[in-house]
Formats: sequence, structure tokens, C-alpha cells
Amino acid sequence: MGLLSLGTPLPWNEAKKHADHVRYHGISQFLNTWRRLKDRQGDELMWGDEIEYMIVELHDKDKNAVLSLCQTDILRKLDSSTRQIDADTDDSIVAPTFHPEYGRYMLESTPGVPYTSCVHDLALVEGNMRYRRALARSELLPNQRPLSITSFPRLGAPGQFTEPYYDPSNAVSSHSLFLPEEITNPHARFPTLTANIRRRRGSKVAINLPLFIDVKTPRPHVDPLIPWERSVYEEDPEAKNGAALADHIYMDAMGFGMGCCCLQLTFQACNVTESRRLYDAFVPVAPIMLALTAASPLYRGYIADVDCRWNVIAGSVDDRTPEERGLKPLKENRFRIPKSRYDSVDLYIADTWMNRPEYNDTDVPYDLAIYDRLVKDGEFCIDAHLSKHLAHLFIRDPIVIFSELLDQDDETSMDHFENIQSTNWQTVRFKPPPANSSIGWRVEFRSMEVQLTDFENAAFAVFIVLLSRAILSMNLNFYIPISKVDENMQRAQRRDALSTQRFFFRRDVFPPPRSQDTSPTPSGASTPGSNTSSRTKSRRMNNCHPTPPPPEDGSTSVPVEEEYTEFTADELMNGSGAFPGLIGLTETYLEELEIEPDERYKIDSYLDLVRRRANGSLSTTAAWMRNFVISHPAYMRDSVVSQEINYDLMRAVDEIERGVRREPTLLPENYTGGAKDKGCL
Ligand code: ADP
Ligand code: MG
Ligand code: MG
Ligand code: MG
Ligand code: MG
Ligand code: MG
Repeated sequence: MGLLSLGTPLPWNEAKKHADHVRYHGISQFLNTWRRLKDRQGDELMWGDEIEYMIVELHDKDKNAVLSLCQTDILRKLDSSTRQIDADTDDSIVAPTFHPEYGRYMLESTPGVPYTSCVHDLALVEGNMRYRRALARSELLPNQRPLSITSFPRLGAPGQFTEPYYDPSNAVSSHSLFLPEEITNPHARFPTLTANIRRRRGSKVAINLPLFIDVKTPRPHVDPLIPWERSVYEEDPEAKNGAALADHIYMDAMGFGMGCCCLQLTFQACNVTESRRLYDAFVPVAPIMLALTAASPLYRGYIADVDCRWNVIAGSVDDRTPEERGLKPLKENRFRIPKSRYDSVDLYIADTWMNRPEYNDTDVPYDLAIYDRLVKDGEFCIDAHLSKHLAHLFIRDPIVIFSELLDQDDETSMDHFENIQSTNWQTVRFKPPPANSSIGWRVEFRSMEVQLTDFENAAFAVFIVLLSRAILSMNLNFYIPISKVDENMQRAQRRDALSTQRFFFRRDVFPPPRSQDTSPTPSGASTPGSNTSSRTKSRRMNNCHPTPPPPEDGSTSVPVEEEYTEFTADELMNGSGAFPGLIGLTETYLEELEIEPDERYKIDSYLDLVRRRANGSLSTTAAWMRNFVISHPAYMRDSVVSQEINYDLMRAVDEIERGVRREPTLLPENYTGGAKDKGCL
């Protein structure tokens, strides 16, 4: 999670004086990187996943499941055990990496080295994920579990939900009514982020998730779990003064959002052009994958009427002032800003004919001075698309500034750039090469919720890898207006979205046929259904080739509204009529590869899971969890997830992961559970 610099963080009234300095030098740093690396070519596909876990402790005697605030301790142990692994093995084996996250009960893990373009790596993903989980598990106490759950059902509920227990009245950074200070990673960055978001906004963040209304839920539901009359912090009256809505689950702190877990994937492109094309293609895919991976229907001891974390996190870091939110006329601030810093992508960025201006159809404020600086940078000038993207990200203020790091060498540092970039949390991220590294231009896919088992996490990861390859190899065109992507983001989060919602998507995703197309593209298929069997199949998934020229017949002049339609999740993933479905596209791409039978078997089992989630023959994690709560004998049909229900749910999640408990509505019958030891790297 972002940059972890050391030093003295400035409080907001100090930090804001340096905002322009950070922005100016951040752009200088980007420009220096651009000048050096814009023409860099030929980087191999490399990619990797990030999985986040919560350490949950099971207290059997009082039937309670609580979050263990053991991050510092566990990371120290994992650091020494991974060093030992590296020392004990040759260079071909690199131990995985564990990272801190916002919550002091959270862990993140990534593979030790990124995967490559070799097909075989697809077959290593699940084993690597299981190995990482087993390593984490081996450092835990017998009653602690590394669970890959997206939201903790009783985070912020009254009583003990952390080990050790802390009272929320000491929430000096967030001033939350529900979450104690100790929930937050103690590294200065995190409490400062929390406090400065509140200070910049001028109030606590306020998230109101619609409550799932059951037959015995009191109506209107005025939440008895909110300490309405507390008076510890000046913001305490906000709840009763309108911030907390009836029939909603009210949450008032960054921890509710940034304390959620997710599954992310990062891809290295062969050059900057390919990374921008992949970025754009991922944008309309992001909400679909959010719906397919939906895994978070429970918050603060209640059942929500939504299935995903997204709006919770968006609200939890929404530092916009009332002026920026459009509640007051602009006086102190420069922009009306329609979205939180954490939200869906606002602009497509590829500089190609496929990216029609009509697709960027929402109100996107951007900093004109920064834009001018980028587009007018002499011989290195940046095109309008990318300039606008950066000038849009840079309307935000830096929230955390360390006084020691204000003056940097813009030739060698990317710190100021990353300060703004890494606090714009969008569904897809365009990652320029980091300072002082050999890494190329990358793209990160960030919308997915983490799944209970590594089989599922591997399935969604491998699916997105294959889809990314299909996009590049077949020159697929996924563009639809950003306003429709935004609408899909909201639909994706609704309860049971896969069966109740339709999603906007482009009707014809194939590139226009070319009449004199005689030169085959380096990686094979460029038209749908082309016969790939006569071509040499490859063990490599690199796809570096230029975007095709625009159609000769001018068919780009079709009105944008005719280019897209609404699909059910099943149609969109599994195909319907002439539309091949996103899974169909990955299968076409697989024909280009030389795959061993055991590799193919694994890949097929992954695609099958995705297919079955989409067609409803397996339920989403969210639907399964909701059903677990509602059918629990102790459930009172009042929307409440009690301590006992939560305990049983967390136990069930752990047993599912280990293969001890079978859930045939959630997982295929042949799922046999995660690794029981760590001997499988
Ligand atoms: P962040 O938290 O900033 O998104 P992380 O370092 O946690 O970044 O995760 C980055 C992911 O990218 C990891 O899975 C890692 O394996 C992968 N990765 C590392 N180097 C490369 C590279 N050159 N190309 C693609 N992916 C990479
Ligand atoms: Mg993370
Ligand atoms: Mg990370
Ligand atoms: Mg990080
Ligand atoms: Mg080694
Ligand atoms: Mg990431």
C-alpha cells in the first residue's frame, strides 16, 4: 500500500502549504521519467498478484472471532523466515514477500519474483498462493487464521472485536465512534492519512450503506449500536446531526474501507503504448470483475443490501471539502470534484483512433497549468490524453508529507509523484517505471474482491492474465463511455448483481477487418475465428505489436450509443449470439499457446469456476455469506450478525479454505482444500 517513507509527518495545516511544491516536483519527476523511458521497448510480460489477509483469532470459549492486531509481530517473524528460505535455497527460489497494510490485523503477500510470460507460470500461481498462506499460518498462534476475507463482519461492532481489546474513545486520528486508534498500522503514514483526510474534509468521513431489511428488522431502523450521545471528540454530534441515515449502516472512519482486503494484479507491458492500451481495455472490465468476485455483504455487525466493498472504501477516504462536493459555492477550493480519490477510472488514456473523444464523457476536472506544462514540454511533450490523466490525478492534495523529504532530486526520485499517484486509488492504475529500478511501464487491475480460497484467487488471477493477453493479441476494442462504466460500478455492487443486473459492454469487440491484410501480426490471430492451428504455437505470452490502423470505410463514425448494449453477466462472460463472451475470448487466445495437458487441465478448471459464477450455477462469495448468516439458527431475522454467527462464519471460512468443510454451492465438487503445510513452493 503506497509509499512507506520515514520521517516526521506534517499535520494538515502545515502539509497544505506544501501542496503546490509536491505537485510541481511530482510532475517534474514524471517528466524526467518520461524523457528517459518513453521510448523504452521490448520489456517482457511480467506480472504478479497481491493477496490481502486478515488475521482472525477464534475464541472458542465465548464463541467470538476477533481481529488479531499482530501485524508488526507477524511481519517480523515472516521477515526472518523468508530470509532463511532465501539463504537455504539457490537463486532459482525466492521467498515470497509480505507487506504491511492499513489495518493492524492485515497482511499482504506477493510472489517473491514476478511471473513471466511462460505458460507454465500460470500453473504455478495457485501453489504459490497456498504456499504464502501456509507460511503466514506457520507463524501464527494455534487459534489464529490467515483468512482472505474482504470485509470483517463485526469490525466496529460493540464489545470485543479485536485482540487485544481497545476502547474506541481513544481514536485520536479518526475520531471514530466505533474503531479504536489501535486498529490502524502504527507507521506514521497511516494515522496521518486518517487524521489529515478528516481535517481536510472538515468532518469525519460518512459512509451509509443500505441495510438489508429482513422481516423483523425494526422500521425505520435507527441504529441502536451508534453511541449517539457520546461527547469525546468535537465531531461526535455529526451522527445525530444527519451524518448517520436511518435504514443504513453508518461508518465514520477510514479503517472501515482501507481495512478491507482485495486481490490485485500488476502487468508489465512491452512499452508505454501497450500499457496505455491495456489500461483502457481493463477499465470496462473492472466493474464486471467486481460483480463476479463480490465477497463483502457484512459490515459493523449488520447485513448490508450490497455485496461489495467499493463504495465503502470510496467513502472512507473521501477528503473532498463541502465546496469540492458541491455543497457550497467554490471559494477556498479550485474545483468541484465529482468523485472521491478512491473510485472508478475517470479517463481513458491510450493515444489511438480507437479511443474516441466521446468515450471520455463525464465531468473530469483537471489542473490546466499542469496540463499545459505537460503538453508543452518541448520535444518531449506529452499527448493530450496522458496529460489530462495526470492533470486530473494532480487536482488532489498530498495528504501525507514528511518534512525531511520535501526537497528531492527530481532526476532520481519519484517520491512526490508517487505521493499523489498512490493516493488516487482507481479501479485501474497506470504505473510508470519506479525510480532506480529496471521495471518497465506497468498496469494494475484493482477492482477484485479477495476470495476465500487460493483456488478461486488463482482462477480470477489467471483469467485476467489470459484476458489481458487476448486483448493485446487480438487487438480487442472494449471502449464504451466512462459514464456507462461508472453505472456498471454501481450495478456491480448491488445485492446479487450477477443475476439481477445487466451491464453495459461493447457489442463488437473485434478490430475492423482489413482488406489488404497480408502481414501476420507477430503473435498470431488478429481476426476472430482465424485458423490458428496452422501457426506455430508458443510457450510465451508476449504480445508486442502496434495497434491496427483505423478502418478504411470510416466505420468509427457510428454513433457511440450504437456501439454498446446491456448484457447479463452470463452473456457477457459466456457469450451470446455473435458476442463471444470474455471467457470465449480467453479460450480463443489459448489456441495460440502450446500448453501441456496438466497445465490445460488447471486453466480449464479456473475458467470453469469463472464461467459458473457468471451463469449462477455457483454462487458468489457474498451470496454464500449472506445465506450462511440468514440460515444460521441464531439469526433473528433482524439484519444483525451476532458475535456467535460471526464466530461460526469465520470458522466455516477457515474450514472451507482447508478443504474440511464442503460448500458445493460455492466451489466445484472436486475442490480439495488448501495446503496443510508449507512444503509446496
Ligand atoms: P503495490 O502495492 O504498489 O500495488 P506491490 O509491490 O505490492 O505493489 O505489488 C506489485 C506486484 O507486481 C507484485 O505481484 C509483483 O510480483 C509484481 N511485479 C513486480 N515487478 C514487476 C514487473 N517488473 N512487472 C510486472 N509485475 C511486477
Ligand atoms: Mg495492498
Ligand atoms: Mg501491494
Ligand atoms: Mg505497495
Ligand atoms: Mg534462494
Ligand atoms: Mg497494489
